[in-house]
Amino acid sequence: MSYFVLAYYKFVEIEDPAAEVANHHSFFKGKDATGRIYISKQGINGQMSASADVAEAYMTWMKSDARFKDIDFKIHHHEEQVFPRMTIKVRKQLVALDDEVDLSMRGKSLTPKEWSEMLEQRDEDTLLLDVRNDYEWEVGHFEGADLPQLETFRKFPKFAKELKEKRSPKKTKVMMYCTGGIRCELYSSLLKREGFEQVYQLQGGVIGYGLNEGKKHWRGKLFVFDDRLTVPISEKEESEVISSCKHCKAPSDIYYNCANMDCNELFLSCPECAEKFQGCCCDSCQTAERVRPFEKSERPKPFRKAYHYATE
Ligand SMILES: [Zn+2]
Ligand SMILES: [Zn+2]
Repeated sequence: MSYFVLAYYKFVEIEDPAAEVANHHSFFKGKDATGRIYISKQGINGQMSASADVAEAYMTWMKSDARFKDIDFKIHHHEEQVFPRMTIKVRKQLVALDDEVDLSMRGKSLTPKEWSEMLEQRDEDTLLLDVRNDYEWEVGHFEGADLPQLETFRKFPKFAKELKEKRSPKKTKVMMYCTGGIRCELYSSLLKREGFEQVYQLQGGVIGYGLNEGKKHWRGKLFVFDDRLTVPISEKEESEVISSCKHCKAPSDIYYNCANMDCNELFLSCPECAEKFQGCCCDSCQTAERVRPFEKSERPKPFRKAYHYATE
């Protein structure tokens, strides 16, 4: 059985988000689909998986609505569902941010092809900015990208202010990217507000890039916010491993949640060390009070109860 994994978002006024959530619930009732779909007055943001026929029906149903007719569904394939259940919710904000954003100030959107060409022509005035978390960066990123050091992306407005002290807002050409493109829609406007004149964002994010341009200029895998955790950015090409096991430093891009329930840290481990440490991130976690029994598996799934990494 083959499943479609869909990633999509659309900024469009949704007058009654609760009614839209109800519409979605009735569409998916009794259907073979899982995911996380968030709806706000600003629009919709979804990640989901479904059997091919249900996914096709959903995309057709969405596009028949004038608000969503040009929505860009990015499609991956997987042998099973990638979420434990279907969650459809009203959210105040589509992307968590401690700031108001003027969406009309967004950066210039580049198609994957334009992005790839601009990467080839970049010079010292180009800042290639990865607006994802460090654990996403670690398993894969564009060659030569900078990672803003932030504890949380809610702090991006502060980062934008500080960047102005370090790089000329007039001269610097900022190329920013994220997983599916939605973060850049907001963060690019924050940079423009600080006076950065040349801000470019990757349309459809890394997912869209991989589907169109393959792994050119990319190193490693792509972190995703579902059971797959990491995927090759192109379904047609092998990807290399650029990260290493926390314990023995052997190459690995397999994430585990520490089996100590009071730690639960997301960390990289090779399968041998995972077994040796019984799924724990360190010695002291192994002897902690509340440790989940270790289950050996080739591709461990994220531990759900304390799903503690930020969702997009
Ligand atoms: Zn190891
Ligand atoms: Zn731990």
